[in-house]
Amino acid sequence: MTRDGTSERACYKFPRPKGRGPIEALSWAVGNARGSHFRGGRPGARRGPIAAAIINGMIYLDNNATTPVHADVFEAMRPFLQDQFGNPSSAHRFGQQARQAVEQARYQVAQFVGCKAAEVVFTSGGTEADNAAILGLAAAPPPPRPGGPEKRTIITSAVEHSAVRETLEYLAKSGWKVVPIGVDTDGRLDMNALASALRDPSVAFLSMMWANNETGVIFDVAAVGMLARQHGVPFHVDAVQAAGKLPLHFAEQPIDLLVISAHKFHGPKGVGALVVRRGTRWQPLLRGGPQERQRRGGTENVAGIVGMGAAAALAAKTLEDPQAQAAVAEWRDRLERGVLAAIAQTQVNGDRVHRVSNTTNISFAGLEAEAILLLLSQQDICASAGAACASGSLEPSHVLQAMHLPERIAHGAIRFSLSRYNTRQEIDHTLAALPAIIARLREVLPV
Ligand code: PLP
Repeated sequence: MTRDGTSERACYKFPRPKGRGPIEALSWAVGNARGSHFRGGRPGARRGPIAAAIINGMIYLDNNATTPVHADVFEAMRPFLQDQFGNPSSAHRFGQQARQAVEQARYQVAQFVGCKAAEVVFTSGGTEADNAAILGLAAAPPPPRPGGPEKRTIITSAVEHSAVRETLEYLAKSGWKVVPIGVDTDGRLDMNALASALRDPSVAFLSMMWANNETGVIFDVAAVGMLARQHGVPFHVDAVQAAGKLPLHFAEQPIDLLVISAHKFHGPKGVGALVVRRGTRWQPLLRGGPQERQRRGGTENVAGIVGMGAAAALAAKTLEDPQAQAAVAEWRDRLERGVLAAIAQTQVNGDRVHRVSNTTNISFAGLEAEAILLLLSQQDICASAGAACASGSLEPSHVLQAMHLPERIAHGAIRFSLSRYNTRQEIDHTLAALPAIIARLREVLPV
């Protein structure tokens, strides 16, 4: 969790340093590290559907935390925040217009995910959908084999997002056995350990991410799912960081439940989807009205759902455009190459081949990520840390710990996550700013 309690590490607006001590030293470092061309703003205004007005002159490299809402998405939502306020459950024409909009969005999301529209359950975001998937599977475990043990074991990975980790921890407290499968130093899943864990007849289900939010490392969910199928074990996939970055093709995947969240692909926050394959043994989390075919009670967030549909349609189009995909990877690789070449004692964390194209996790050995983020933020560059601040002390992230990174590497890990709206100019500005920032920090906070 972040200092502000959000589920994903966000770009902080750091408080202005006051008083003496290390913060004062950092402030001094900022003044000195700032190149003169950064004073008075960044040259070169942004163009395109994500307007400069939205990004506000920032260089936003924190797209795994959240993405700006696309202008077309915003326009699609607008009527449902204004005049078209009908309740989709109302029988009158006004309500039915809202119903139609929700169903169109369901179709758009289904096209994007590659599933049937009837399999899409709208939720309040990725966290709710992960909770619904896990708690819903736990509420309806497969029956034990004759003479076999009760199914009370869940297999997961050691690098899950807190939406999955915390939900599994909650189940562990009520008697479930949770088996986290480890990763290697590149963040790749230990498939042998997984195969052997699946032999346990008490396994009820498997819950794992597709792409890692901190490193971008991709798990081979097709191979994992095949193994799960061989053992008759249902498989929940948290695809929040994969959606919009990889084609999902749910229908062809050995996956039973899949989770996505709109704000990770230029849709609004607070809306997501749980895709439940037909015939899956699963119980709804939220009970109430008959909405979402009785799989998620509660009046629908119509504007949010419409926005998610519009964002899904745009993301599906972008995924089909190899140039758009290549551009993100090109800027990410440029940033990575530039940092590694210009700054000593740096390394990229995670498998550089099996990785989503927008993410790089770079360690600046011997430094604290928070200090680097502070100085970056003061130059209007937004990134995020591989470390969360807990009561004043910095804990390296569980992901980097699971990858067995030495502490002095893990503490200085910064995640840069791009979108298709970043420009080469922004990458070059970041590359121009970083060496001075790191040099100053290494000067004032020697290790
Ligand atoms: N799962 C992963 C991998 C994530 O990165 C996130 C958000 O950062 C979530 C789940 C939670 O999604 P939401 O922010 O929509 O609750």
